Amino acid sequence: MNPPKQDNGKSVLVVFTGPSGAGKSSIIEKLKQDYPDRIGFSVSHTTRSPRPGEQNGVEYHFVSEEKFKDMIEKNEFIEYANVHGRYYGTSLQAIDSVLNRGQLCVLDVDVQGCRSIRQRNMNAVIIFISPPSLSELESRLRCRKTESEADLRKRLEDAQGEMKTCEESNLYDLIIVNDVLDRAYNEARTFIAEYLSEERSKTKTLASDIKL
Ligand code: GDP
Ligand code: ADP
Ligand code: 5GP
Repeated sequence: MNPPKQDNGKSVLVVFTGPSGAGKSSIIEKLKQDYPDRIGFSVSHTTRSPRPGEQNGVEYHFVSEEKFKDMIEKNEFIEYANVHGRYYGTSLQAIDSVLNRGQLCVLDVDVQGCRSIRQRNMNAVIIFISPPSLSELESRLRCRKTESEADLRKRLEDAQGEMKTCEESNLYDLIIVNDVLDRAYNEARTFIAEYLSEERSKTKTLASDIKL
């Protein structure tokens, strides 16, 4: 399947979305390993606490709710949302720092963030990562051991509504079922191959070009 063509020659944002535990981070990690120079990750801001091993400025910028609200007031986010009871947002700066390096910008945002991205007509391809089933999602989240029981329940509850968004037309460009990780990864990589080419990277869109 070919990705939608860009008619203005500008580079795109590649957005991964889907329920917590679906495998977005695993797929993004593989992309970063395979294309360390070509791909950059948009580091979101969040008010959730870091998990063991997570570093400030790498997986997220971990900030207080006060700081996050201050950034909202200052219009520093291209999108933000309350996800599973915490704030998450993509700053203009996070995207620009990737695009300024001439890299393809990969984002991991929730389904509400995807709606904002669509509404603002950003130059984005959106890939929904789906678990094979809700029971498999639960066992993956349990194996990951990163959430308390209450947080895990909240994520599973939210997953049901998030899965329903797959039925909406025009929200997602591609839906990938993450049954076997390598297979799902190859599907994602094939889809975005066009955007990984050298030629693509020479034209760039800065976040400041994005209509807010
Ligand atoms: P995970 O999905 O289990 O890996 O948990 P995370 O805490 O990393 O992410 C929680 C949710 O927030 C996910 O649905 C992410 O896609 C979403 N998310 C992360 N960063 C952003 C962001 O900048 N904007 C929006 N809208 N959502 C985000
Ligand atoms: P997300 O970023 O969408 O929350 P993760 O990438 O953290 O999801 O994946 C959730 C958990 O499931 C992780 O522990 C990961 O190692 C595991 N996982 C991811 N894909 C698969 C798969 N295809 N089969 C089995 N386990 C997987
Ligand atoms: P986690 O807490 O497990 O890291 O992330 C939970 C959810 O937050 C995931 O669905 C992830 O995609 C989403 N998320 C992460 N960063 C952002 C962001 O900047 N904006 C939005 N809207 N969602 C985000």
